[in-house]
Amino acid sequence: MKAQDGMYIDGAWRPAAGSDLIDVVNPADGQVIASVPAGNAEDVDAAVRAARAALPGWAATPQAERAALVAALRDALVAHKDELADTITAELGAPLAFAKAVHVGGSTAVASSFAELAASYAFEERIGNSTVLLEPVGVVAAITPWNYPLYQIVAKVAPALAAGCTLVLKPAEDTPLTAQLFARAVHEAGIPAGVFNLVTGTGPVAGQALAAHEGVDLVSFTGSTAVGRKIGATAGAAVKRVALELGGKSANVVLPGADLAKAVATGVGHVMANTGQRCNALTRMLVHRDQYEEAVSLAAAAVAKYPSGDPRQDDTRLGPVVNAQQHERVLGYIARGIEEGARLVAGGPDAPHEQGYFVAPTVFADVTPDMAIAQEEIFGPVLSILSYEDEEEALRIANGTVYGLGGAVWAADEETAVAFARRMETGQVDINGGRYNVLAPFGGHKQSGVGRELGSHGLAEYLQTKSLQF
Ligand code: NAD
Repeated sequence: MKAQDGMYIDGAWRPAAGSDLIDVVNPADGQVIASVPAGNAEDVDAAVRAARAALPGWAATPQAERAALVAALRDALVAHKDELADTITAELGAPLAFAKAVHVGGSTAVASSFAELAASYAFEERIGNSTVLLEPVGVVAAITPWNYPLYQIVAKVAPALAAGCTLVLKPAEDTPLTAQLFARAVHEAGIPAGVFNLVTGTGPVAGQALAAHEGVDLVSFTGSTAVGRKIGATAGAAVKRVALELGGKSANVVLPGADLAKAVATGVGHVMANTGQRCNALTRMLVHRDQYEEAVSLAAAAVAKYPSGDPRQDDTRLGPVVNAQQHERVLGYIARGIEEGARLVAGGPDAPHEQGYFVAPTVFADVTPDMAIAQEEIFGPVLSILSYEDEEEALRIANGTVYGLGGAVWAADEETAVAFARRMETGQVDINGGRYNVLAPFGGHKQSGVGRELGSHGLAEYLQTKSLQF
């Protein structure tokens, strides 16, 4: 794709206020592939004003019409699915087949789900002698990360549009090209001018200005816990609504009696998907000590099925990590794991390729709950395997981090797995390999965040109530 050199504001591409640029780098070879304007407070202000001006008209648009426009947006994304996948591969490094199936396929599935919800959702309810109106919150600031560049945008924009909100999007610095393609799809779908606006730029400049703008009613942020904390404080000081989807360190608990081979293979696949750059990746595998060595051997063998390499080649299953900084960070955690005494059973610090930000798929055994690789989010293809003696210890370890986003339990039967899952302090748990559901609420307990995305719970984040008494 050819990068746009402006911002999408009030239904058109407009020149940026300043002249700063952000280079977009292909992480598979380190080459600059494009540059986009780095927006500043002036661009943000213009975008928020456009969103404010468009709010009354969009909020008053009949539900069926809004639903039809969300469906048209989905169709526009589907029409450009190959270009979207290609762009995600170029700027994120996701293997092309994965970019098509998961990045783009998952995003259009989410857009579809909100097109349907927009049509069927009850924006009014009766409680005793009251009618409760569920009204749009107003102008939304959407701030998104790079790890699923299209999905993260769709998971905010589609429900906000369905609810009758208008938006300003500030996407991640590393993946602005996907965001520009998304803006083009919004335009092609015929969504009225000002309803959706895009400002590319850095977090500390454009992101900060957007989160702090007094014309914004709700800040919906996905990203790191460190930045989320700052955004939460800014929003709190202004008494503004805030939704935070943050980091994770999710546990994959394999109870005695479970299908060990399946649990380990699925668990490894979960960590390696998107090169481990998933907030809900199951990066801590907990196995009973009697089955521990068997699980470690199975995991070491399973990672061999994730060859890294050129993301455009059909047999590549593991792309690079997104950028040089992330590369250093992941290698730093691998070094720390070795230093703290964990046993490296696959992968490690050696570069698998001469160029690009590649990390070998890595498995650590003999990981103890206090180690950094058991506590901190690595955001790379690194699995830590821990052992436990009994269920109580497994639960203590599973719940023993500041995070609580994803999780999984494997057991001989569903009842045992569900009983354990009920005691986990986390927002989602996959039971015996349960599949992803676009309608299930997604979000964190503890420091993994505030609020929920997806489905009717996700739509509710963009609504506020007004009660009429009769
Ligand atoms: P990040 O927090 O550095 O950046 C996320 C977004 O916030 C980017 O658009 C960035 O430009 C912006 N930003 C940075 N500083 C800002 C500031 N001071 N004010 C306003 N905006 C600012 O995170 P990242 O490195 O892009 O993404 C990785 C992190 O995201 C991981 O920690 C991961 O767990 C988390 N994540 C969470 C979820 C979830 O749903 N819970 C999903 C994906 C990623």
